[in-house]
Amino acid sequence: MDDIELLLDLHRDGQRQGPGSAADTRRAVELSGLQGQTDLAVADLGCGTGASTMVLAQELNATISAVDLFPDFLDVLTASAQQKGLADRINSNACSMDALPFADNSFHAIWSEGAIYNVGFANGIKILRRLLKPGGVLAVSELTWLTNNRPQELQAHWTQEYPEVDTASAKMATLEQNGYVPIGYFALSKSSWLEHYYHPLQDRFAAFLSRHGHSDAAQAIVASELREIELYERYADFVSYGYYIAQKQVS
Ligand code: SAH
Repeated sequence: MDDIELLLDLHRDGQRQGPGSAADTRRAVELSGLQGQTDLAVADLGCGTGASTMVLAQELNATISAVDLFPDFLDVLTASAQQKGLADRINSNACSMDALPFADNSFHAIWSEGAIYNVGFANGIKILRRLLKPGGVLAVSELTWLTNNRPQELQAHWTQEYPEVDTASAKMATLEQNGYVPIGYFALSKSSWLEHYYHPLQDRFAAFLSRHGHSDAAQAIVASELREIELYERYADFVSYGYYIAQKQVS
């Protein structure tokens, strides 16, 4: 099994594949101003197994196009949508968010929790803008510095892993420079990282290692996740995901 297959195996059974929570998605929905509108077309990009997709289908009168690169995650999403009676309003699309098969001006809203980093924030918001209807809403969560100065160790780690990591004010400026009007922002709480993501992930490590006979590759993946968790626990006051809600500027 290669590293991608191992990562899919570790993350497929998770409720989520990144930090966040149903309460965070609902808060973003409230800030979006979309509630009460009907017949919405919404995309959820990098949806993983669909934690946010289900909330969007419950909170909005919408058809949701769920997109992820990996069909394995979408299979779990489809089963869960069926179980929740939401399957008729969710369609799944296995493709990359930088090669989306949708026409310009397709969506009233585009969501992406903890996934736009895959194509880069500045690049991603540029690509997605054309898919939004004028006045359409972009709602994305993205790694964000909470303070202007950070401990050197934390700064070095994330700058290496994700050079685009920046403060909320810098991300908002990027949105403004690319034809969006920021209409809401909040930072995810520690419980969205620990209770909703890292702790359930840690609970799966033992079974994952045993499924793969404690192979070197499986152990390396767990070690790398543990390093990230340990770093987060020490420096949670300095870094989080920021949730950015913005509207496509009407020319
Ligand atoms: N939104 C989910 C998953 C976040 S993890 C959640 O919050 O739980 C990032 C997701 O992006 C993973 O599901 C991964 O499979 C997906 N992904 C990675 N590269 C991608 C790409 N180029 N296009 C679309 N999805 C991608």
